[in-house]
Amino acid sequence: MRNNACYSCGFCCTVRPCGWGKWDPVNKQCLFLTSSSKCSKYEEIVREDSDTQYPMFGSGCSSSLFNERREKKIKELYEKTKTASKDS
Ligand code: SF4
Ligand code: SF4
Repeated sequence: MRNNACYSCGFCCTVRPCGWGKWDPVNKQCLFLTSSSKCSKYEEIVREDSDTQYPMFGSGCSSSLFNERREKKIKELYEKTKTASKDS
């Protein structure tokens, strides 16, 4: 089964910043990527992008192949879900 969902791993923001981003050459990632791999401009982007035909957020992952950060996020989510279902 193909899964192209975004898991907010932040990988794509370490390769090239989007149109709202800005490259940080020291940390080699977008300046707006937080330490927990979130976009600190998320609300602003969603607000400005909401009436476009192809909004940036919500259209899936563009970098799902060989993406270890994303794989790790998926595993963490799976383990969390497994633990939660055991506890209930
Ligand atoms: S602005 Fe947000 S989504 Fe765009 S590259 Fe930077 S951190 Fe990523
Ligand atoms: S690499 Fe994919 S899963 Fe990770 S933040 Fe970017 S779009 Fe989302």
